[in-house]
Amino acid sequence: MHKLSKATLALNGFSRCFITEKHLSAVKVIRRGLVSADYADDYIKNDVYDVIISGGGMVGSAMACSLGMDPNLLGKKILLLEAGNKKVIDKVPETYSTRVSSISPGSATLLSGIGAWEQITKMRCKPYKKMQVWDACSDALITFDKENLEDEMAYIVENDIVVAALTKQLDSLSDNVQVKYRSKVVQYTWPMSHLATDSIPWVQVTLASGETLQTKLLIGADGPNSMVRQELGIPTVKWNYDQSAVVAVLHLSEPTENNVAWQRFLPTGPVAMLPLSDTESSLVWSTSHQHAEELLELDEESFVDAVNSAFWSNENQSELIETAGSVFRGALSAIMPSAGSPRQLPPSVSGIGPKTRVMFPLGMGHASEYIRHRVALIGDAAHRVHPLAGQGANLGFGDVACLTRLLSQAAFNGKDLGAMQHLLEYETERQRHNLPMMASIDLMKRLYSTNTAPVVLLRTFGLQATNMLPALKEQIMAFASK
Ligand SMILES: Cc1cc2nc3c(=O)[nH]c(=O)nc-3n(C[C@H](O)[C@H](O)[C@H](O)COP(=O)(O)OP(=O)(O)OC[C@H]3O[C@@H](n4cnc5c(N)ncnc54)[C@H](O)[C@@H]3O)c2cc1C
Repeated sequence: MHKLSKATLALNGFSRCFITEKHLSAVKVIRRGLVSADYADDYIKNDVYDVIISGGGMVGSAMACSLGMDPNLLGKKILLLEAGNKKVIDKVPETYSTRVSSISPGSATLLSGIGAWEQITKMRCKPYKKMQVWDACSDALITFDKENLEDEMAYIVENDIVVAALTKQLDSLSDNVQVKYRSKVVQYTWPMSHLATDSIPWVQVTLASGETLQTKLLIGADGPNSMVRQELGIPTVKWNYDQSAVVAVLHLSEPTENNVAWQRFLPTGPVAMLPLSDTESSLVWSTSHQHAEELLELDEESFVDAVNSAFWSNENQSELIETAGSVFRGALSAIMPSAGSPRQLPPSVSGIGPKTRVMFPLGMGHASEYIRHRVALIGDAAHRVHPLAGQGANLGFGDVACLTRLLSQAAFNGKDLGAMQHLLEYETERQRHNLPMMASIDLMKRLYSTNTAPVVLLRTFGLQATNMLPALKEQIMAFASK
Protein backbone atom coordinates (compact mmCIF):
# COMPACT_ATOMS: atom_id res chain seq x y z
CA MET A 1 0.00 0.00 0.00
CA HIS A 2 1.30 3.42 -0.87
CA LYS A 3 2.42 5.67 1.99
CA LEU A 4 -0.31 8.26 1.41
CA SER A 5 -3.15 7.92 3.90
CA LYS A 6 -6.61 6.85 2.74
CA ALA A 7 -8.01 10.22 3.73
CA THR A 8 -5.40 12.07 1.64
CA LEU A 9 -6.15 9.89 -1.33
CA ALA A 10 -9.87 10.26 -1.00
CA LEU A 11 -9.46 14.03 -0.76
CA ASN A 12 -7.14 13.95 -3.72
CA GLY A 13 -9.86 12.20 -5.72
CA PHE A 14 -12.62 14.57 -4.60
CA SER A 15 -10.54 17.72 -5.01
CA ARG A 16 -9.76 16.75 -8.57
CA CYS A 17 -13.43 16.70 -9.25
CA PHE A 18 -13.96 20.24 -8.13
CA ILE A 19 -10.88 22.09 -9.41
CA THR A 20 -11.66 23.66 -12.78
CA GLU A 21 -10.51 21.61 -15.70
CA LYS A 22 -8.25 24.45 -16.91
CA HIS A 23 -6.27 24.55 -13.68
CA LEU A 24 -6.26 20.82 -13.39
CA SER A 25 -4.80 20.40 -16.86
CA ALA A 26 -2.03 22.90 -16.25
CA VAL A 27 -1.00 21.31 -12.98
CA LYS A 28 -1.03 17.80 -14.25
CA VAL A 29 0.68 18.51 -17.53
CA ILE A 30 3.58 20.11 -15.68
CA ARG A 31 3.69 17.32 -13.15
CA ARG A 32 3.60 14.43 -15.51
CA GLY A 33 5.56 15.78 -18.49
CA LEU A 34 4.84 15.55 -22.18
CA VAL A 35 6.55 14.00 -25.14
CA SER A 36 6.58 16.37 -28.06
CA ALA A 37 4.60 15.46 -31.15
CA ASP A 38 7.74 16.11 -33.27
CA TYR A 39 9.59 13.42 -31.39
CA ALA A 40 6.72 11.04 -32.08
CA ASP A 41 6.80 11.82 -35.80
CA ASP A 42 10.46 10.80 -35.97
CA TYR A 43 9.58 7.31 -34.91
CA ILE A 44 8.83 4.56 -37.43
CA LYS A 45 5.05 4.83 -37.31
CA ASN A 46 4.22 1.44 -38.84
CA ASP A 47 5.64 -0.47 -35.88
CA VAL A 48 3.52 1.39 -33.39
CA TYR A 49 -0.11 0.80 -32.43
CA ASP A 50 -2.31 3.84 -31.85
CA VAL A 51 -4.13 2.06 -29.02
CA ILE A 52 -3.47 -1.19 -27.17
CA ILE A 53 -6.12 -2.37 -24.71
CA SER A 54 -4.75 -4.74 -22.10
CA GLY A 55 -7.49 -7.08 -20.83
CA GLY A 56 -10.49 -8.37 -22.74
CA GLY A 57 -13.11 -8.84 -20.00
CA MET A 58 -16.53 -7.20 -20.34
CA VAL A 59 -15.08 -3.69 -20.11
CA GLY A 60 -11.92 -4.10 -22.26
CA SER A 61 -13.87 -5.91 -25.01
CA ALA A 62 -16.52 -3.16 -25.01
CA MET A 63 -13.72 -0.57 -25.27
CA ALA A 64 -12.22 -2.37 -28.28
CA CYS A 65 -15.63 -2.54 -30.04
CA SER A 66 -16.42 1.05 -29.22
CA LEU A 67 -13.12 2.35 -30.66
CA GLY A 68 -13.37 -0.01 -33.65
CA MET A 69 -16.80 1.37 -34.56
CA ASP A 70 -15.98 5.05 -34.19
CA PRO A 71 -15.81 6.73 -37.64
CA ASN A 72 -13.17 9.25 -36.48
CA LEU A 73 -10.86 6.41 -35.47
CA LEU A 74 -11.03 4.57 -38.80
CA GLY A 75 -7.52 3.73 -40.00
CA LYS A 76 -6.06 3.75 -36.48
CA LYS A 77 -4.13 0.65 -35.40
CA ILE A 78 -6.05 -0.79 -32.45
CA LEU A 79 -5.15 -4.01 -30.62
CA LEU A 80 -6.91 -5.91 -27.82
CA LEU A 81 -4.79 -8.28 -25.71
CA GLU A 82 -6.49 -10.93 -23.57
CA ALA A 83 -4.66 -13.48 -21.43
CA GLY A 84 -7.52 -16.03 -21.63
CA ASN A 85 -9.09 -17.99 -24.46
CA LYS A 86 -11.50 -16.56 -27.03
CA LYS A 87 -15.04 -16.86 -25.59
CA VAL A 88 -17.48 -17.95 -28.26
CA ILE A 89 -21.04 -19.21 -27.68
CA ASP A 90 -22.42 -21.04 -30.74
CA LYS A 91 -25.44 -22.37 -28.90
CA VAL A 92 -26.69 -20.88 -25.65
CA PRO A 93 -26.38 -23.57 -22.94
CA GLU A 94 -29.64 -24.72 -21.36
CA THR A 95 -28.33 -24.06 -17.87
CA TYR A 96 -27.57 -20.57 -16.59
CA SER A 97 -24.10 -19.50 -15.61
CA THR A 98 -23.56 -18.30 -12.02
CA ARG A 99 -21.78 -15.06 -12.97
CA VAL A 100 -24.42 -12.53 -13.95
CA SER A 101 -24.60 -8.73 -13.96
CA SER A 102 -27.41 -6.28 -13.65
CA ILE A 103 -26.91 -4.07 -16.71
CA SER A 104 -28.29 -0.53 -16.44
CA PRO A 105 -30.23 1.17 -19.28
CA GLY A 106 -27.20 3.46 -19.82
CA SER A 107 -24.92 0.45 -20.32
CA ALA A 108 -27.52 -1.19 -22.58
CA THR A 109 -27.48 1.97 -24.73
CA LEU A 110 -23.68 1.79 -25.00
CA LEU A 111 -23.79 -1.94 -25.87
CA SER A 112 -26.54 -1.26 -28.39
CA GLY A 113 -24.50 1.52 -30.04
CA ILE A 114 -21.57 -0.85 -30.53
CA GLY A 115 -23.77 -3.61 -31.97
CA ALA A 116 -23.55 -6.07 -29.05
CA TRP A 117 -26.96 -5.56 -27.41
CA GLU A 118 -28.85 -7.21 -30.27
CA GLN A 119 -26.61 -10.28 -29.91
CA ILE A 120 -27.17 -10.30 -26.14
CA THR A 121 -30.97 -10.14 -26.41
CA LYS A 122 -30.90 -12.85 -29.10
CA MET A 123 -28.91 -15.10 -26.76
CA ARG A 124 -30.39 -14.55 -23.27
CA CYS A 125 -31.24 -11.53 -21.15
CA LYS A 126 -33.93 -10.91 -18.53
CA PRO A 127 -35.32 -7.40 -18.08
CA TYR A 128 -36.84 -6.37 -14.76
CA LYS A 129 -39.14 -3.46 -13.95
CA LYS A 130 -38.97 -3.18 -10.22
CA MET A 131 -36.59 -3.52 -7.30
CA GLN A 132 -37.56 -4.04 -3.67
CA VAL A 133 -34.94 -3.50 -0.98
CA TRP A 134 -35.75 -4.11 2.67
CA ASP A 135 -34.13 -4.26 6.08
CA ALA A 136 -34.12 -7.60 7.93
CA CYS A 137 -33.93 -5.76 11.28
CA SER A 138 -37.09 -3.68 10.81
CA ASP A 139 -38.86 -4.65 7.57
CA ALA A 140 -38.59 -1.00 6.42
CA LEU A 141 -38.57 -1.12 2.65
CA ILE A 142 -38.01 0.89 -0.47
CA THR A 143 -39.22 0.04 -3.92
CA PHE A 144 -37.91 1.41 -7.15
CA ASP A 145 -40.02 1.09 -10.25
CA LYS A 146 -40.68 2.88 -13.50
CA GLU A 147 -43.90 4.81 -13.24
CA ASN A 148 -45.63 3.39 -16.30
CA LEU A 149 -43.96 -0.04 -15.93
CA GLU A 150 -43.31 -0.05 -19.66
CA ASP A 151 -39.66 0.90 -19.29
CA GLU A 152 -37.16 -1.61 -18.01
CA MET A 153 -35.31 -0.77 -14.82
CA ALA A 154 -32.31 -2.93 -15.78
CA TYR A 155 -31.42 -6.30 -17.31
CA ILE A 156 -29.86 -9.42 -15.83
CA VAL A 157 -27.33 -10.88 -18.26
CA GLU A 158 -24.75 -13.65 -17.84
CA ASN A 159 -21.21 -12.23 -18.00
CA ASP A 160 -20.20 -14.95 -20.51
CA ILE A 161 -23.01 -13.81 -22.81
CA VAL A 162 -21.87 -10.17 -22.66
CA VAL A 163 -18.29 -11.17 -23.53
CA ALA A 164 -19.41 -13.62 -26.26
CA ALA A 165 -21.60 -10.91 -27.89
CA LEU A 166 -18.71 -8.44 -27.81
CA THR A 167 -16.34 -11.11 -29.19
CA LYS A 168 -18.72 -11.75 -32.10
CA GLN A 169 -18.90 -8.05 -32.78
CA LEU A 170 -15.09 -7.81 -32.66
CA ASP A 171 -14.91 -10.59 -35.30
CA SER A 172 -16.99 -8.39 -37.60
CA LEU A 173 -14.66 -5.43 -36.91
CA SER A 174 -11.46 -7.34 -37.75
CA ASP A 175 -10.44 -4.69 -40.32
CA ASN A 176 -10.43 -2.06 -37.58
CA VAL A 177 -9.43 -3.94 -34.43
CA GLN A 178 -6.89 -6.72 -34.09
CA VAL A 179 -7.40 -9.16 -31.18
CA LYS A 180 -4.82 -11.50 -29.68
CA TYR A 181 -6.20 -14.09 -27.25
CA ARG A 182 -3.98 -16.19 -24.95
CA SER A 183 -1.67 -13.18 -24.93
CA LYS A 184 -0.67 -12.33 -21.40
CA VAL A 185 1.29 -9.14 -20.88
CA VAL A 186 4.27 -9.80 -18.62
CA GLN A 187 6.00 -6.43 -18.73
CA TYR A 188 5.34 -2.76 -19.46
CA THR A 189 8.04 -0.19 -20.19
CA TRP A 190 6.91 3.39 -19.75
CA PRO A 191 8.06 6.31 -21.88
CA MET A 192 10.38 8.77 -20.18
CA SER A 193 9.93 12.51 -20.36
CA HIS A 194 11.09 14.34 -23.50
CA LEU A 195 14.39 15.13 -21.75
CA ALA A 196 15.50 11.52 -21.92
CA THR A 197 16.16 11.54 -25.66
CA ASP A 198 17.45 7.98 -25.90
CA SER A 199 14.29 6.36 -24.51
CA ILE A 200 11.39 5.19 -26.68
CA PRO A 201 8.53 7.67 -26.77
CA TRP A 202 5.79 5.01 -26.58
CA VAL A 203 4.55 2.49 -24.07
CA GLN A 204 6.24 -0.86 -24.71
CA VAL A 205 4.30 -4.03 -24.01
CA THR A 206 6.00 -7.42 -23.67
CA LEU A 207 3.92 -10.58 -24.01
CA ALA A 208 4.59 -13.95 -22.35
CA SER A 209 5.56 -15.25 -25.82
CA GLY A 210 8.44 -12.75 -25.84
CA GLU A 211 6.83 -10.56 -28.52
CA THR A 212 7.24 -6.82 -27.93
CA LEU A 213 4.73 -4.20 -29.09
CA GLN A 214 4.55 -0.43 -28.84
CA THR A 215 1.61 1.89 -28.48
CA LYS A 216 0.85 5.59 -28.33
CA LEU A 217 -1.93 4.91 -25.84
CA LEU A 218 -2.25 1.95 -23.48
CA ILE A 219 -5.70 1.34 -21.98
CA GLY A 220 -5.48 -0.81 -18.84
CA ALA A 221 -8.64 -2.94 -18.60
CA ASP A 222 -6.94 -5.77 -16.73
CA GLY A 223 -9.29 -6.04 -13.77
CA PRO A 224 -9.08 -5.38 -10.01
CA ASN A 225 -5.48 -6.63 -9.66
CA SER A 226 -4.42 -4.53 -12.65
CA MET A 227 -0.77 -5.00 -13.54
CA VAL A 228 -0.89 -1.72 -15.48
CA ARG A 229 -1.96 0.17 -12.32
CA GLN A 230 0.55 -1.61 -10.10
CA GLU A 231 3.52 -1.22 -12.48
CA LEU A 232 2.78 2.49 -12.79
CA GLY A 233 2.77 2.74 -8.98
CA ILE A 234 -0.57 4.56 -8.98
CA PRO A 235 -1.65 5.09 -5.35
CA THR A 236 -4.81 3.11 -4.70
CA VAL A 237 -7.23 3.33 -1.80
CA LYS A 238 -8.34 -0.22 -1.18
CA TRP A 239 -9.63 -2.47 1.51
CA ASN A 240 -11.08 -5.94 1.71
CA TYR A 241 -14.56 -6.17 3.15
CA ASP A 242 -14.83 -8.89 5.75
CA GLN A 243 -17.24 -10.56 3.35
CA SER A 244 -17.46 -13.00 0.48
CA ALA A 245 -20.31 -13.28 -2.00
CA VAL A 246 -21.90 -16.70 -2.48
CA VAL A 247 -23.50 -16.94 -5.91
CA ALA A 248 -25.78 -19.70 -7.23
CA VAL A 249 -28.59 -20.36 -9.71
CA LEU A 250 -31.89 -20.77 -7.81
CA HIS A 251 -34.94 -22.79 -8.93
CA LEU A 252 -38.16 -21.11 -7.84
CA SER A 253 -40.96 -23.11 -6.18
CA GLU A 254 -43.43 -22.09 -8.87
CA PRO A 255 -43.31 -20.13 -12.14
CA THR A 256 -43.92 -16.39 -11.76
CA GLU A 257 -43.62 -13.34 -13.98
CA ASN A 258 -40.34 -12.83 -12.12
CA ASN A 259 -39.71 -9.22 -13.07
CA VAL A 260 -38.61 -7.91 -9.67
CA ALA A 261 -35.06 -7.80 -8.26
CA TRP A 262 -35.07 -8.46 -4.50
CA GLN A 263 -32.47 -7.45 -1.96
CA ARG A 264 -32.69 -7.84 1.80
CA PHE A 265 -30.11 -6.34 4.14
CA LEU A 266 -29.20 -8.86 6.85
CA PRO A 267 -26.82 -7.74 9.64
CA THR A 268 -24.25 -10.14 8.11
CA GLY A 269 -24.60 -8.57 4.64
CA PRO A 270 -27.08 -8.15 1.75
CA VAL A 271 -28.74 -11.11 0.04
CA ALA A 272 -30.10 -10.55 -3.47
CA MET A 273 -32.29 -12.60 -5.81
CA LEU A 274 -32.11 -11.44 -9.43
CA PRO A 275 -34.53 -12.72 -12.08
CA LEU A 276 -33.21 -15.00 -14.84
CA SER A 277 -36.43 -16.56 -16.19
CA ASP A 278 -39.96 -17.41 -15.04
CA THR A 279 -38.58 -20.27 -12.98
CA GLU A 280 -35.01 -19.32 -12.14
CA SER A 281 -33.17 -16.52 -10.35
CA SER A 282 -29.58 -15.72 -9.51
CA LEU A 283 -28.42 -15.49 -5.89
CA VAL A 284 -25.78 -13.02 -4.69
CA TRP A 285 -25.40 -13.46 -0.92
CA SER A 286 -22.72 -11.33 0.74
CA THR A 287 -21.78 -12.64 4.17
CA SER A 288 -18.78 -13.34 6.42
CA HIS A 289 -16.04 -15.51 4.88
CA GLN A 290 -16.73 -18.24 7.43
CA HIS A 291 -20.47 -18.27 6.80
CA ALA A 292 -19.86 -18.25 3.04
CA GLU A 293 -17.65 -21.34 3.38
CA GLU A 294 -20.32 -23.04 5.52
CA LEU A 295 -22.98 -22.24 2.90
CA LEU A 296 -20.85 -23.89 0.21
CA GLU A 297 -20.48 -27.02 2.36
CA LEU A 298 -24.23 -27.48 3.01
CA ASP A 299 -26.17 -30.19 1.18
CA GLU A 300 -28.65 -28.84 -1.37
CA GLU A 301 -31.72 -29.10 0.86
CA SER A 302 -30.08 -27.26 3.78
CA PHE A 303 -28.73 -24.60 1.41
CA VAL A 304 -32.21 -23.99 -0.01
CA ASP A 305 -33.59 -23.72 3.57
CA ALA A 306 -30.85 -21.20 4.40
CA VAL A 307 -31.70 -19.09 1.32
CA ASN A 308 -35.44 -19.09 2.09
CA SER A 309 -34.77 -18.19 5.70
CA ALA A 310 -32.43 -15.33 4.62
CA PHE A 311 -35.37 -13.77 2.71
CA TRP A 312 -38.19 -14.63 5.10
CA SER A 313 -36.96 -15.05 8.70
CA ASN A 314 -37.87 -12.41 11.33
CA GLU A 315 -35.16 -13.46 13.75
CA ASN A 316 -33.36 -10.07 13.56
CA GLN A 317 -36.42 -7.95 14.36
CA SER A 318 -37.22 -6.44 17.76
CA GLU A 319 -40.53 -5.19 19.12
CA LEU A 320 -39.13 -1.71 19.88
CA ILE A 321 -37.94 -1.12 16.31
CA GLU A 322 -41.12 -2.64 14.87
CA THR A 323 -43.33 -0.30 16.94
CA ALA A 324 -41.24 2.82 16.22
CA GLY A 325 -41.15 1.96 12.51
CA SER A 326 -44.91 1.47 12.23
CA VAL A 327 -45.64 4.73 14.15
CA PHE A 328 -43.31 6.63 11.78
CA ARG A 329 -44.83 4.89 8.74
CA GLY A 330 -48.32 5.79 9.99
CA ALA A 331 -47.33 9.45 10.44
CA LEU A 332 -45.85 9.61 6.92
CA SER A 333 -48.97 8.01 5.42
CA ALA A 334 -51.13 10.61 7.17
CA ILE A 335 -49.09 13.43 5.59
CA MET A 336 -48.74 11.76 2.18
CA PRO A 337 -51.60 9.28 1.84
CA SER A 338 -50.91 8.32 -1.78
CA ALA A 339 -47.11 8.04 -1.50
CA GLY A 340 -45.10 4.86 -0.90
CA SER A 341 -45.51 1.48 -2.50
CA PRO A 342 -47.02 -1.73 -1.18
CA ARG A 343 -44.81 -4.54 0.06
CA GLN A 344 -44.46 -7.50 -2.27
CA LEU A 345 -43.27 -10.92 -1.18
CA PRO A 346 -40.27 -12.56 -2.83
CA PRO A 347 -40.68 -15.97 -4.48
CA SER A 348 -39.65 -19.02 -2.46
CA VAL A 349 -36.83 -21.27 -3.63
CA SER A 350 -37.08 -25.03 -4.14
CA GLY A 351 -33.68 -26.02 -5.49
CA ILE A 352 -30.38 -24.91 -7.00
CA GLY A 353 -28.63 -25.50 -10.31
CA PRO A 354 -26.09 -28.34 -10.10
CA LYS A 355 -22.54 -27.18 -9.27
CA THR A 356 -23.53 -23.51 -9.39
CA ARG A 357 -22.44 -22.50 -5.88
CA VAL A 358 -19.27 -20.39 -5.92
CA MET A 359 -17.87 -17.72 -3.59
CA PHE A 360 -15.87 -14.53 -4.28
CA PRO A 361 -14.04 -12.40 -1.69
CA LEU A 362 -15.30 -8.79 -1.80
CA GLY A 363 -13.32 -5.58 -1.63
CA MET A 364 -13.29 -1.92 -2.54
CA GLY A 365 -10.57 -0.18 -4.50
CA HIS A 366 -10.07 3.19 -6.16
CA ALA A 367 -7.04 4.35 -8.14
CA SER A 368 -6.34 7.97 -7.17
CA GLU A 369 -5.24 8.56 -10.77
CA TYR A 370 -6.97 7.01 -13.79
CA ILE A 371 -4.34 8.27 -16.21
CA ARG A 372 -0.63 8.75 -16.67
CA HIS A 373 1.33 9.86 -19.67
CA ARG A 374 0.03 7.67 -22.57
CA VAL A 375 -1.99 5.44 -20.22
CA ALA A 376 -5.63 5.31 -19.10
CA LEU A 377 -7.26 2.87 -16.68
CA ILE A 378 -10.85 1.69 -17.15
CA GLY A 379 -13.24 -0.70 -15.38
CA ASP A 380 -12.18 -2.64 -12.30
CA ALA A 381 -8.56 -1.67 -12.99
CA ALA A 382 -9.56 1.86 -11.89
CA HIS A 383 -12.38 1.12 -9.41
CA ARG A 384 -13.82 -1.91 -7.65
CA VAL A 385 -17.07 -1.81 -5.68
CA HIS A 386 -19.20 -4.06 -3.46
CA PRO A 387 -21.83 -5.86 -5.60
CA LEU A 388 -24.74 -4.65 -3.42
CA ALA A 389 -25.74 -1.96 -5.94
CA GLY A 390 -24.88 -4.01 -9.05
CA GLN A 391 -22.74 -1.17 -10.38
CA GLY A 392 -19.18 -2.52 -11.02
CA ALA A 393 -19.47 -3.32 -14.72
CA ASN A 394 -21.83 -0.38 -15.28
CA LEU A 395 -19.20 2.06 -14.00
CA GLY A 396 -16.75 0.42 -16.41
CA PHE A 397 -19.13 0.81 -19.37
CA GLY A 398 -19.47 4.49 -18.40
CA ASP A 399 -15.67 4.78 -18.62
CA VAL A 400 -15.81 3.24 -22.11
CA ALA A 401 -18.44 5.70 -23.35
CA CYS A 402 -16.54 8.69 -21.96
CA LEU A 403 -13.07 7.67 -23.18
CA THR A 404 -14.38 6.82 -26.66
CA ARG A 405 -16.03 10.23 -26.99
CA LEU A 406 -12.85 12.07 -25.97
CA LEU A 407 -10.52 9.96 -28.15
CA SER A 408 -12.89 10.38 -31.09
CA GLN A 409 -12.78 14.18 -30.67
CA ALA A 410 -8.98 14.07 -30.37
CA ALA A 411 -8.69 12.02 -33.58
CA PHE A 412 -11.09 14.37 -35.36
CA ASN A 413 -8.89 17.31 -34.35
CA GLY A 414 -5.74 15.50 -35.47
CA LYS A 415 -4.36 15.24 -31.93
CA ASP A 416 -2.00 12.60 -30.53
CA LEU A 417 -4.30 10.00 -28.86
CA GLY A 418 -1.89 9.53 -25.95
CA ALA A 419 -1.67 13.27 -25.14
CA MET A 420 -2.53 14.34 -21.61
CA GLN A 421 -5.11 16.95 -22.52
CA HIS A 422 -8.03 14.64 -23.33
CA LEU A 423 -6.87 11.96 -20.88
CA LEU A 424 -7.20 14.57 -18.12
CA GLU A 425 -10.72 15.34 -19.24
CA TYR A 426 -11.49 11.62 -19.08
CA GLU A 427 -10.11 11.34 -15.55
CA THR A 428 -11.97 14.40 -14.27
CA GLU A 429 -15.29 13.43 -15.83
CA ARG A 430 -15.21 9.85 -14.64
CA GLN A 431 -13.99 10.58 -11.12
CA ARG A 432 -16.81 13.08 -10.75
CA HIS A 433 -19.26 10.29 -11.50
CA ASN A 434 -17.52 7.28 -9.94
CA LEU A 435 -16.45 8.72 -6.57
CA PRO A 436 -19.91 9.72 -5.31
CA MET A 437 -21.28 6.36 -6.47
CA MET A 438 -18.47 4.46 -4.72
CA ALA A 439 -18.88 6.51 -1.54
CA SER A 440 -22.66 5.82 -1.50
CA ILE A 441 -22.14 2.08 -1.98
CA ASP A 442 -19.54 1.94 0.80
CA LEU A 443 -21.79 3.94 3.13
CA MET A 444 -24.74 1.60 2.46
CA LYS A 445 -22.55 -1.41 3.18
CA ARG A 446 -21.45 0.10 6.52
CA LEU A 447 -24.89 1.43 7.51
CA TYR A 448 -26.48 -1.99 7.11
CA SER A 449 -23.68 -4.02 8.71
CA THR A 450 -24.99 -3.46 12.23
CA ASN A 451 -28.06 -4.32 14.27
CA THR A 452 -27.39 -1.65 16.94
CA ALA A 453 -30.82 -0.18 17.79
CA PRO A 454 -30.14 3.58 17.20
CA VAL A 455 -28.59 2.89 13.79
CA VAL A 456 -31.41 0.52 12.83
CA LEU A 457 -33.96 3.17 13.86
CA LEU A 458 -32.18 5.87 11.89
CA ARG A 459 -31.98 3.81 8.70
CA THR A 460 -35.57 2.59 9.17
CA PHE A 461 -36.84 6.18 9.26
CA GLY A 462 -34.54 7.15 6.38
CA LEU A 463 -35.66 4.26 4.17
CA GLN A 464 -39.36 4.79 4.93
CA ALA A 465 -39.12 8.52 4.26
CA THR A 466 -37.24 7.98 0.98
CA ASN A 467 -39.83 5.44 -0.08
CA MET A 468 -42.49 8.16 0.28
CA LEU A 469 -40.60 10.66 -1.90
CA PRO A 470 -41.00 9.73 -5.58
CA ALA A 471 -38.85 12.67 -6.75
CA LEU A 472 -35.90 11.52 -4.61
CA LYS A 473 -36.36 7.93 -5.76
CA GLU A 474 -36.38 9.11 -9.38
CA GLN A 475 -33.08 10.88 -8.78
CA ILE A 476 -31.51 7.81 -7.20
CA MET A 477 -32.72 5.70 -10.15
CA ALA A 478 -31.43 8.20 -12.69
CA PHE A 479 -28.01 8.24 -10.99
CA ALA A 480 -27.81 4.44 -10.96
CA SER A 481 -29.12 4.06 -14.54
CA LYS A 482 -26.26 5.90 -16.22
C1 LIG B 1 -20.52 -11.44 -6.96
C2 LIG B 1 -20.42 -10.28 -7.91
C3 LIG B 1 -21.58 -9.75 -8.47
C4 LIG B 1 -21.51 -8.65 -9.33
N1 LIG B 1 -22.67 -8.13 -9.87
C5 LIG B 1 -22.60 -7.06 -10.69
C6 LIG B 1 -23.80 -6.50 -11.25
O1 LIG B 1 -24.90 -6.97 -11.00
N2 LIG B 1 -23.68 -5.42 -12.09
C7 LIG B 1 -22.47 -4.87 -12.38
O2 LIG B 1 -22.43 -3.88 -13.13
N3 LIG B 1 -21.32 -5.38 -11.87
C8 LIG B 1 -21.36 -6.47 -11.04
N4 LIG B 1 -20.20 -6.99 -10.53
C9 LIG B 1 -18.90 -6.37 -10.88
C10 LIG B 1 -18.43 -6.82 -12.26
O3 LIG B 1 -18.38 -8.24 -12.32
C11 LIG B 1 -17.04 -6.24 -12.53
O4 LIG B 1 -17.07 -4.86 -12.30
C12 LIG B 1 -16.63 -6.47 -13.99
O5 LIG B 1 -16.57 -7.84 -14.27
C13 LIG B 1 -15.26 -5.83 -14.26
O6 LIG B 1 -14.92 -6.06 -15.60
P1 LIG B 1 -13.46 -5.71 -16.15
O7 LIG B 1 -13.48 -6.07 -17.59
O8 LIG B 1 -13.08 -4.34 -15.72
O9 LIG B 1 -12.47 -6.68 -15.33
P2 LIG B 1 -12.34 -8.26 -15.38
O10 LIG B 1 -13.65 -8.92 -15.58
O11 LIG B 1 -11.54 -8.66 -14.17
O12 LIG B 1 -11.49 -8.53 -16.71
C14 LIG B 1 -10.11 -8.32 -16.78
C15 LIG B 1 -9.56 -9.09 -17.98
O13 LIG B 1 -8.19 -8.77 -18.14
C16 LIG B 1 -7.46 -9.95 -18.45
N5 LIG B 1 -6.09 -9.74 -17.98
C17 LIG B 1 -5.67 -9.55 -16.70
N6 LIG B 1 -4.33 -9.40 -16.66
C18 LIG B 1 -3.90 -9.48 -17.94
C19 LIG B 1 -2.60 -9.41 -18.55
N7 LIG B 1 -1.49 -9.24 -17.81
N8 LIG B 1 -2.51 -9.55 -19.89
C20 LIG B 1 -3.63 -9.73 -20.65
N9 LIG B 1 -4.89 -9.82 -20.13
C21 LIG B 1 -5.01 -9.70 -18.79
C22 LIG B 1 -8.20 -11.05 -17.70
O14 LIG B 1 -7.96 -12.32 -18.29
C23 LIG B 1 -9.65 -10.61 -17.81
O15 LIG B 1 -10.29 -11.15 -18.94
C24 LIG B 1 -20.24 -8.07 -9.64
C25 LIG B 1 -19.07 -8.60 -9.08
C26 LIG B 1 -19.15 -9.69 -8.21
C27 LIG B 1 -17.89 -10.24 -7.61
